[in-house]
Amino acid sequence: MRPAICKVCNISAVQSPNGEWVTFLDYKSLDEEEIGHPDGLEWFCENHIEAAKLLSHKNYSDALQELQKKYPVAISNTIEKNENKKWWQQFIKH
Ligand SMILES: [Zn+2]
Repeated sequence: MRPAICKVCNISAVQSPNGEWVTFLDYKSLDEEEIGHPDGLEWFCENHIEAAKLLSHKNYSDALQELQKKYPVAISNTIEKNENKKWWQQFIKH
C-alpha cells in the first residue's frame, strides 16, 4: 500500500484525518502474495473526498484528470513544490 496522500493537493492523512480511500472502476484487489498497491485505489483528503467519490464510477486515470481540471490551483502548488526540490538538488550538487 502507498502512503495516504491526496492525489489532488498532496496533503497527507496526518494533516487531513477525515480523508478516505476511494476505489475506482478499475480497482483490482491484490492477491495475498502480491506486494504493492492495488490499481484503482487512491486516498483523498477531506477537501477532495466528496469530489473523488462522485467520480468513482470512472477509471482512476479519467477521474484524476477531471479532479485536476476542477482544482487547477492544487496542481500549480504541486508543480511549484517539484521545482523547489530541483532547485535544492542543483544547489547540493554545486
Ligand atoms: Zn486534497
